[in-house]
Amino acid sequence: MSAGFQSDFKEQVRTQTDLVNLVSEGVALTAQRGGREYVGLCPFHDDHNPSFRVYAEQQSYRCWVCDEGGDCFSFVMKRDLINFREALEYLAERAGIEIPKHSRSNRNSNGISNADLYEILLWAESLFHNSLVKTEQGKEALDYMLDRGFSQETILQFRIGYHPKDWNWIQNQSQGRFSHEALRTAGLIAKRDGNDGYYDHFVDRVMFPIRDKQKRTVAFGGRALPGSDAENKGKYQNSPEGPLFSKSRLLYGLDVARDGIFRTKTAIVVEGYTDCITCQQLGMVNVVGVLGTSLTEMHVQELKRFADKVILVFDGDDAGQNAADRAISKFLSQEVDLRILALPDGLDPAEYIEQNSLEKFQDLVTNAKEAWDFKFVACLEKYGTESLDSCERILNEMLELLSLSPGLAGSVRENMILGRLENRLGVSEIVIRQKYKEIRKQKRTTSRPQTQMQSPAGFKDNNRQRRIDPQQGEFKSILKKSQKYDLAEQELLEIILSAPQWIEKIQQQVSVQDFEHQVRAELLQFCFDMAEQGQEPSYHNVTIALEDPELKRLAQRIDEISREKKIAEKMRNAEQLHEETSIPILLYHALDILKFRRMEMEKENLAAKGRTQISTFTSGELSDSDRELLKQASQFHTMRAGHKK
Ligand SMILES: [Zn+2]
Repeated sequence: MSAGFQSDFKEQVRTQTDLVNLVSEGVALTAQRGGREYVGLCPFHDDHNPSFRVYAEQQSYRCWVCDEGGDCFSFVMKRDLINFREALEYLAERAGIEIPKHSRSNRNSNGISNADLYEILLWAESLFHNSLVKTEQGKEALDYMLDRGFSQETILQFRIGYHPKDWNWIQNQSQGRFSHEALRTAGLIAKRDGNDGYYDHFVDRVMFPIRDKQKRTVAFGGRALPGSDAENKGKYQNSPEGPLFSKSRLLYGLDVARDGIFRTKTAIVVEGYTDCITCQQLGMVNVVGVLGTSLTEMHVQELKRFADKVILVFDGDDAGQNAADRAISKFLSQEVDLRILALPDGLDPAEYIEQNSLEKFQDLVTNAKEAWDFKFVACLEKYGTESLDSCERILNEMLELLSLSPGLAGSVRENMILGRLENRLGVSEIVIRQKYKEIRKQKRTTSRPQTQMQSPAGFKDNNRQRRIDPQQGEFKSILKKSQKYDLAEQELLEIILSAPQWIEKIQQQVSVQDFEHQVRAELLQFCFDMAEQGQEPSYHNVTIALEDPELKRLAQRIDEISREKKIAEKMRNAEQLHEETSIPILLYHALDILKFRRMEMEKENLAAKGRTQISTFTSGELSDSDRELLKQASQFHTMRAGHKK
């Protein structure tokens, strides 16, 4: 292929693609300057003020915040995370331009190119489809499909087909057009035992083409008709994995649902192609299916390109619960809002919609529980909350699950989860953290088979109940302080990013050493540095300047929370000023808590002398000096309560 040929083709695709139209698929654009420019929220960063501009005349785009820019090819490459060739093919197909055969990607496997395989699969798809909708031998299968609620349009749209009851059918249809080796590589036929020729892989089955996200058929799913001989070999049968098809990578229906997912930022994942088609047929635009496997890391990576939220839908039986457990531990550490919906009475989505309604199903989807909550509620149902014993079982099971998640250790997310456990169970965070440490240690020990199990000191069984006894109010309140400090650190950052004009005041009263949380301390340092250089550390300025992805994520989360809490408004509101100092109460409060901690730490250092405070507290025995500290803390809280309105 000459380079000239490719560049002609590229220019042809470019001139027949309208960038404004292309961007509009996922971004709401507003026309400006008489339609010569368009603005919208940037799809490539967390944009709150429209910073993304599309220039209609130049057919180019640029985001003035994250500095992304380019033409239709770079836009699709960035949006779908695909390479140039894939973008070229995608846009060509979108514009209805035929892709020159010799321009297709050609990665060989045993002499048969991928282009050959696509051609074979497309050919087979037409054969199967014809055999279902136009032939006598496909009539029973067609009736069955219509009976199951698949509409004519759906059968046409998804090119559903039928492989007749004949073990040589596809080979005979080929009539030497494709070699046996090529048909075998395409997954349509298999070798007989003893090297005695071939047989068709799918026989007497309804055939569902499986497409990749560029709408190319890469495999088939075959469903046996009820009561047929084929059913004995399994109700569902997929193409074997090959050069084009990997079930741990491919999401069924993504070719149809991609734009819907991109628009709604939400992906609904069901099990299998029939459920997926049923939902799509009913107008749900963002549904995909997994094929004979649970959701994998690669699936999630793929979905994260389009969606912020992923909702897994399971049949509400034990298998569904187990699948949910696996998904939670696998994806807990991922930056994705994972939700889980277990359908009642073990129904699958198609059955549920049939017995209830689409609206009811959509309600369930909208209200699907956050994965972690889902697990928590399942535990509550299993153990109840009445006794201390049940409380401990729940804690154990939740922490066990948490400890299974690789890559979570020490993350902001882990902190949030532990904090939430504290709120839900009323067990102090320090106790939870110690327990968690113990479980992780045990996990490490048991994963090393030769080492002897050792129970860490101070964690004997008879101590457990006492440590989580909610009756010990005093004990709990002092431990609860750690969360209060956490919150104060968090709130101070919220204030800085949304009301950066206060930075000088803040710098005068607290230092980075007053922060305990490592990542938050780094962000605070960053804001201070910025102020030193004469720049306001607003969220906007900070996110542009930040390079560390973890700090960036933290800043984003803080910004989201402060928007929810309307921090900027509260900081402006004169009624919320502290009377004596004229500092906004919110800021006064946060500074106050952090200063108190500093004071307390200094006192503790003096008083403790070789004795660690926490070990005494957790053993449940309070010394006189501890009681004195508690008293002081309580006095301080009473005093501070007076500052509030
Ligand atoms: Zn941007």
